Amino acid sequence: MTDENLPRRRFLRGEFLRTLQSERTALQGFQGVRPPWAKANQTFIDACTRCGDCVAACETHILIQGEGGFPEIDFQRGECTFCEKCVSACSASVFRPTNEMPWQHKADIGENCLTRQNVACRSCQDCCESRAIRFTLALGRVAAPTIDESACNGCGACIRSCPVAAIKLSYPEE
Ligand code: SF4
Ligand code: SF4
Ligand code: SF4
Repeated sequence: MTDENLPRRRFLRGEFLRTLQSERTALQGFQGVRPPWAKANQTFIDACTRCGDCVAACETHILIQGEGGFPEIDFQRGECTFCEKCVSACSASVFRPTNEMPWQHKADIGENCLTRQNVACRSCQDCCESRAIRFTLALGRVAAPTIDESACNGCGACIRSCPVAAIKLSYPEE
């Protein structure tokens, strides 16, 4: 490829990255998710060197180098086990103490959940180790899930388990 094609190449790469970003945003919620225990986003971005050490350390490979090379979680790859390896691998001042809550977000079940169409499904409940997903019986309908927000730790295990991508993240300010 010649030099005069470079701007177009950069444009297409930018478009491609934007497509990936928007797909992840659509699947997970309104924004990318920083690693667990990350400080506030602007503080995180100011201090993160984009070295990628946390990405390499992540035992479930859910950390990726996202937009701008900053680490993001992709829950389509799996769940967070809260192993803290990302925190240990990082030499920058971007993480909070690990005795605090790892995240603010919680899982949220959307209207396209199969049970809303009266189709029985319990895939999400089966993968939730925190037992935060409860199924409630209703007369003449299949049991439907609700999330106990006080029990949900935001691990993301339920997101990939849903066959119709009905589970997203919700944030307290929404
Ligand atoms: S706590 Fe462990 S599993 Fe979770 S993002 Fe960090 S390295 Fe990955
Ligand atoms: S290890 Fe720390 S500085 Fe390096 S990319 Fe991860 S969060 Fe940023
Ligand atoms: S995010 Fe984790 S803890 Fe929360 S409901 Fe889903 S599987 Fe359970």
